[in-house]
Amino acid sequence: MLSRSGILITACALALGCSASTLDKPMDFGPNNPFYAPSTLPFHAPPFDRIKDSDYQPAIEAGMAEQRQEIRAIADNPAPPTFENTFVELEKSGQLFNRAMAAFSGVTGANLNPELQRVQDYLAPRLAAHSDAIYLDSRLFQRVAAIYQQRESLKLDAESLRLVEFYYKKFVHSGANLSDSDKDALKKLNEEESTLTNDFTTRLLAATKDAAYVTTDKGALAGLTDAQISAAALAAKERKLDGYVVPLQNTTQQPDLDLLNQRSTRQALFENSWNRAERGGANDTRDIVSRLAQLRAQKAKLLGFPNYAAWKLDDQMAKTPEAALKFMDALVPGATARATAEASDIQALIDSQKAGFKLEPWDWNFYAEQVRKAKYDMDEAQIKPYFELNNVLENGVFYAASQLYGITFKERKDIPVYTPDVRVFEVVDADGQPLALFYGDFFKRDNKRGGAWMSNFVDQSRLLGALPVVYNVCNFSKPAPGEPALLSFHDVTTMFHEFGHALHGMLADSQYPTLSGTAVPRDFVEFPSQFNEHWASYPAVFSHYAKHYKTGAPMPAELAEKIKKSATFNQGYALTEILAAAQLDMQWHTLPSSTPLQEPDAFETAALKKTHLALSAVPPRYRSTYFAHIWGGDYGAGYYAYLWAEMLDDDAFQWFEDHGGLTRANGDRLRHMVLSRGNTEDLANLYREWLGAEPSIEPMLKYRGLLEPAISK
Ligand SMILES: [Zn+2]
Repeated sequence: MLSRSGILITACALALGCSASTLDKPMDFGPNNPFYAPSTLPFHAPPFDRIKDSDYQPAIEAGMAEQRQEIRAIADNPAPPTFENTFVELEKSGQLFNRAMAAFSGVTGANLNPELQRVQDYLAPRLAAHSDAIYLDSRLFQRVAAIYQQRESLKLDAESLRLVEFYYKKFVHSGANLSDSDKDALKKLNEEESTLTNDFTTRLLAATKDAAYVTTDKGALAGLTDAQISAAALAAKERKLDGYVVPLQNTTQQPDLDLLNQRSTRQALFENSWNRAERGGANDTRDIVSRLAQLRAQKAKLLGFPNYAAWKLDDQMAKTPEAALKFMDALVPGATARATAEASDIQALIDSQKAGFKLEPWDWNFYAEQVRKAKYDMDEAQIKPYFELNNVLENGVFYAASQLYGITFKERKDIPVYTPDVRVFEVVDADGQPLALFYGDFFKRDNKRGGAWMSNFVDQSRLLGALPVVYNVCNFSKPAPGEPALLSFHDVTTMFHEFGHALHGMLADSQYPTLSGTAVPRDFVEFPSQFNEHWASYPAVFSHYAKHYKTGAPMPAELAEKIKKSATFNQGYALTEILAAAQLDMQWHTLPSSTPLQEPDAFETAALKKTHLALSAVPPRYRSTYFAHIWGGDYGAGYYAYLWAEMLDDDAFQWFEDHGGLTRANGDRLRHMVLSRGNTEDLANLYREWLGAEPSIEPMLKYRGLLEPAISK
């Protein structure tokens, strides 16, 4: 995952009432505030030793006011618009806002407390309004458009030209080009969309809670571990119920289905999940889904696009829904053929146990888990001593980056941090010059958001003379004092993943902050991170860090082999369920505006059939009525991006394997042609120039193990 604070923050756009509170009055902002002037620390690092919780709000509010003045000055400039007096000034605007916001986003994500939470709630609607104030400023748009029209004759360098096109598209995308009446119509649709999206989230939350599996019969839970049964008893207690409650997770399949050996319990739990938001009553989401799909198509038409997906993909690497659909269609035969083979393996296992039934979705994980255990059972306790955190970081993550890009790392104890767990490293380039600062905040804390992410405290920009200051945040278990932090291989992969984002930020070499580093489209942003994951299991890297923390002995080959093999297990199912969800998303969002309201179940059945993904034992990862990414989040027509980025990272890694693997020459080439370039060029061109061809899906099928013969029973 990646979060980013950049020049133009898009904050949560839900309409929050701005209730008067004690926070709601102007606050003093002066030279005593640590954000008042640029940081004098190395790399302009945030002065966390001087920043108090109470400093953020006045600095951010003063920063917004300052940027609005700067925007006014650009828009009202009596001189005719030029690239310099419009775009360069836009890029220079908002520096106070950006430095305060970047530090604020960092601490609220990783080190929240009630005071910061209050400030965050207070700022949310104001940040959304701040962004609108820029993109709906018609005088500013007139200047942007004027330069856009003459861009070919201005003899701009390539990056400057890209900046002009980027801003123009962003304004147009937000509706700046519309007539006043169309703007009003768009605003109404946006408001309705925002309300429906919010309602969807609220209903789904309640529906998911209500659809938990409840029983008073402990025997129904046979197969679960003692810990899982205790958790179910506790969940019941929390709801003031007798017996046991298995709450639902957001995906179709539920984790407990791996172990529940009563088939009737499996079926009941699965059906609760599958029908969670289609049970009639107040939490049914079907009417919302139908209307949202129609409304988005109408919005796209207003903005001049044939459907919502066309509007949404216009600034993405794939560019059109047709390209995304063609990509997914090509994956379907390999994925479904493997899933079908996996299904017959499972059916054979069912038959060999004389169970006497036909495989259904609720049986899949239960039997797949038996096969997995028999073939690759890995004991985490055996593996973890080979993955001690510091060793993985320095001899794995940093080592791979040094081999590829020539960069080195030295820890700096003199840079202030927001909590003592955070470690800071200066990153030195191959020529000995300072390149970046890297912060690592690895351990779980109660006041830290879940998951793992990367972002910047300072964005790289030559225009502003700024070197990147980036951070990774993870949620690994913190060991007792004096004990080593031992990781699972999943954790190790997460470290490589987040550091891949960090490299994208640290190797950035752009003129303009808006186009720098990780500020790229969604279907590209996970490419550098997922690409970097490959080095975790690359033999020369793996053997460099996978050593026993006590003895220094390398991991036994047989253990390493199990890790490797288990990575391709059950991938027919895994890819098919994601493809089915991604296709549902795309089918809903390519409906033309003239289409009447659709009945979700009938639409879904037809869509899966049409895209050859209607496998009876492999349901979509999310059903339309509980697909929160697309109806409650910002992933409408965007779920394919996960698979698209996977195509790129596997394709790129295949290129490395074909060209000598882990070498400086290969790393430098990727750095100079891709990683340093941010969004300064069309991403499809950038990638094609680096590879010398269009990306191919073959490597993705290979790394998922779908080109090898199916696993036999
Ligand atoms: Zn990521």
